Amino acid sequence: MKLLFLILLFVNSNNVFSQRLKIRIYSENNIKSFVFAPSEGTYNLQCDTNIIVTLNKDEIINIVQNNDSFEIKSLKQSFGKFKSVQLIGKDNFNNFKIKCTNPNNSLRIYNDDLLLNLSNNSLLLINDVELDNYIAGVVECEGGPKANIEYFKTQAIICRTYALENLSRHITEGYYLCDNVHCQVYRGNSKNKDIYNAATLTSGLVIVDSTLRLINAAFHSNCGGQTISSEDVWLTNKSYLKSVKDSFCINKRNAKWEKTIPFETWKQYLQSNGFHLNNDTDIYNFEQTFRKTYYKINNDSIPLRKIRLDLSLKSTFFNVKVLNNNVILKGRGYGHAVGLCQEGAMEMAKLNYSYKDIIKFYYKNTFIVNLRTLEQFKVN
Ligand SMILES: [Zn+2]
Ligand SMILES: [Zn+2]
Repeated sequence: MKLLFLILLFVNSNNVFSQRLKIRIYSENNIKSFVFAPSEGTYNLQCDTNIIVTLNKDEIINIVQNNDSFEIKSLKQSFGKFKSVQLIGKDNFNNFKIKCTNPNNSLRIYNDDLLLNLSNNSLLLINDVELDNYIAGVVECEGGPKANIEYFKTQAIICRTYALENLSRHITEGYYLCDNVHCQVYRGNSKNKDIYNAATLTSGLVIVDSTLRLINAAFHSNCGGQTISSEDVWLTNKSYLKSVKDSFCINKRNAKWEKTIPFETWKQYLQSNGFHLNNDTDIYNFEQTFRKTYYKINNDSIPLRKIRLDLSLKSTFFNVKVLNNNVILKGRGYGHAVGLCQEGAMEMAKLNYSYKDIIKFYYKNTFIVNLRTLEQFKVN
């Protein structure tokens, strides 16, 4: 039964079979023109099903959107206008440089192929990329460049699980995922050998729950010593996103924060949220030894997640103390605190815990499975 389900999962995601993803790049920009050049390997410029030219390393072409078509030129010649354009790598290992010229953007390097589409008269740049090349690029953006390889493996499995769970997010727009925080941040290939190795060494591994569904692999920077159950933040109850006490992150960079707010501002904020207040300043003091969900004064309360959002606080794990004419918020952690704590995971990796230990510590009752090796789907 379990195996059957996994086979269905595997076959349904036919893009997993091919191990390629279509990722929209520069999705925050309305690109009108850019230059392209192979960085490693050669590329065929395919326009409207014909191969127009083969580009060697550093041979530059300029592509400009002109109403409903693309105008393509090299330094020597004009190739004409086309409706459909693809830049397809011909070798085992291909990557290309791209620099947007309108609007201007810094140069980036991507693995594999580039497809151009038009949607509502705006240019879509789509990187048709091997799954693990994409994962390495995402880990570099989402995980930070300096850490132990076991941490990068953990982050690679999380980013792969997240990507495969969200493949249908942009499917009606002609691609799977965008390249900003809406999906996962992706700014091109990884230049870090450890990250690249972590992605390939964990190739195919994803996290599933006890019903063998891909998990919502939520993560955050630092939990401050205790993660939060998902239902206390997003109102969705997940068996694997349960609060855990975490001593690994408490001395790390994002473990503590402090914010001072004028007492009157704090009072007005609470009144605007329906609080009935008097002049006794003691009633404002509030302590969280363990995480709480609400800030309460007598019969009035407000969700801590609302305070965090309204006042742009780093976390909901804070104490409140009135001092003279101010309110001091002393906080712990950074982020929503659901799922894996990145700074805790980095510390665990440094202490020689394996990626399996780390994943099972933060995501309870989960399994790490290999989508490609179905008969050995459970990694112990
Ligand atoms: Zn997106
Ligand atoms: Zn933590």
